[in-house]
Amino acid sequence: MRNRKAALSAIAAAASLALTLSACGQDSDGGSEDTKGDAKGSTVGIAMPTKSSERWIADGANVEKNLKAAGYKTKLAFGEDDPDTQVSQIENMITQGVSALIIAAIDNKSLDNVLQQAKDAKIPVISYDRLILNSPNVDYYASFDNEKVGALQGGYIVEKLGLKDGSKKGPFNVELFAGSNDDNNTQYFFNGAMKVLQPYIDKKQLVVKSGQTKLNQVTTLRWDGGTAQKRMEELLTAAYRKDRVDAVLSPYDGISIGILSALKSDDYGSKNKPLPVVTGQDAEVASVKSIIAGEQTQTVYKDTRQLAEVASKMVDAVLGDKKPETNDTKTYDNGSKVVPAYLLEPVNVDKTNYKEVVVDSGYIKESDLK
Ligand code: BGC
Repeated sequence: MRNRKAALSAIAAAASLALTLSACGQDSDGGSEDTKGDAKGSTVGIAMPTKSSERWIADGANVEKNLKAAGYKTKLAFGEDDPDTQVSQIENMITQGVSALIIAAIDNKSLDNVLQQAKDAKIPVISYDRLILNSPNVDYYASFDNEKVGALQGGYIVEKLGLKDGSKKGPFNVELFAGSNDDNNTQYFFNGAMKVLQPYIDKKQLVVKSGQTKLNQVTTLRWDGGTAQKRMEELLTAAYRKDRVDAVLSPYDGISIGILSALKSDDYGSKNKPLPVVTGQDAEVASVKSIIAGEQTQTVYKDTRQLAEVASKMVDAVLGDKKPETNDTKTYDNGSKVVPAYLLEPVNVDKTNYKEVVVDSGYIKESDLK
C-alpha cells in the first residue's frame, strides 16, 4: 500500500520534476528575501562517503555544480569509507562556518554528536541518499524509492529465470548478497528484493543452498567488492561442488563485479557452464560494460544528477526560509523523527535498454563503454 502510493507519487513528481524544482525556492512561503540574500554566497558543506565508487564522485560534483549555479560556495569532502574520518570532516565544516550540510553518511549511527553541534550552530542538515539514524537533527532527506530498487532486482531474477510467467518451474539455486549493515538503505534494498523472492523460496522454486537467507548473514561491510568476492568463493566451495548457482542477488555494481570474479574463477562463463543471473545497482561504467559483454545481467539506474538537484534545491529553500518540496512524509522514520523526504524513481537496466536509459539520457557517454 505504502509502496504503491509512494511509487505513484514519485512517478507523478518525477514527471513534473523540472517544473517543481524550478518552482521550489521561488514561491514565498514565509521567507524573507533578506535571509535569502544573506545565505547566498555562503558555503555549503558536502560530505560524501567514498571515492572508491564512481557514483559518489559524480554526486559530489553534481551537488557542487547545482549549488554554485544557485550562488553558493561549496566545501566537498570524501570520507574514505571511514566513519571517524567523516565525522571529523563534518566537524571541520561546522568550525569553518558552513551555512548548511548535505551528508551521505558512511555509518548512519555515528553522526549524532556532530549533528548536535550542527544544530547548536543553527546549520540545517540534508541527509543525502542514505538516511541518518537516531538523530532529531536531520531536516530533510533526498533519496530514491529504495525498496523499489530491491523489488527491481528481485523481480528481474524471477522474470529472467522464467518463474514469473510460469514458463519454468525450477527449482533454481540462488544466493543472496546485501549491502553494508551500517547503511540504512541496505535493509530497504534487501527487503524489497525478498518480498519478491520469498514466495518462490517458500514454494521451493528457488533454493538458497548455503542456507544464508537472513539479512545479518548476507551483508557486505562498506559495500566492498573484494569482501563479496571472498564470500562468493566460499559459497561456491561449500555449497556448489555438484550443483550450479542460477542467480545471485547483488545489491550494488561493485559487489556484482566481485561476485563475477569469483564465478569466473570457478569456470562459470565457459562453454558448458553459463554465468548465473547477477543483478546490480548504480549503472557504473564497468558494470554497464559487463552487461554489454553478457556477464553481469542487470543493474538499477538512479539518476544521481536529479538527486543532486533535489538536495541542492532543498538547501536553497531552507536557507531562504522556505519549505522544500517533499513527496514522502511517512516512510523514513530515523528512530528520532520521521524525516520528510523527496524520493526519486529507480529504473531497471539490462542489455535490452541500457542504451536508451543510460546513454541517451547522457548519464554515460557511449565512447566510455567501448
Ligand atoms: C546507495 C547505492 C550504492 C551503495 C554503495 C547505497 O547507499 O544508495 O546507490 O550502490 O550505497 O555505494
